[in-house]
Amino acid sequence: MNLINCPGCGEIFVKNNFRDVCEKCWKAEERAYDTVSKYMRKRENRAATITQVVDATGVKESLILKFVKAGRLRTTQFPNLGYPCDKCGGIIREGRLCASCTSELKEELERYNKEEKRKQQLQRNQTFLSKKSL
Ligand SMILES: [Zn+2]
Ligand SMILES: [Zn+2]
Repeated sequence: MNLINCPGCGEIFVKNNFRDVCEKCWKAEERAYDTVSKYMRKRENRAATITQVVDATGVKESLILKFVKAGRLRTTQFPNLGYPCDKCGGIIREGRLCASCTSELKEELERYNKEEKRKQQLQRNQTFLSKKSL
């Protein structure tokens, strides 16, 4: 058995694959999800932003983000829903990083690879030269 403290209320419960909070909090989350999804189903609310959903439903922003991240609220259906990028906190709709952080990370990696190659090349040249001078 895997006993942990519920991140919602601090009570000790048995962790399983389906729930990361205790029974009580899970039920509260499901109720909150019902409220949010009912609100989002209305055509005029499809384009609502997180802030608007929080205001209209009274559900905590962190909980709504959890639903979005888990794919329960689909960003393909709701154009203005998203969750924060791991790096800069900008709103994203898929993956873990926003587009600019992704390309930044890629550039960094490329620079690093180039630098490593240059170092290796330098090392090879040096061994070559030292062998020659013998
Ligand atoms: Zn709890
Ligand atoms: Zn970012």
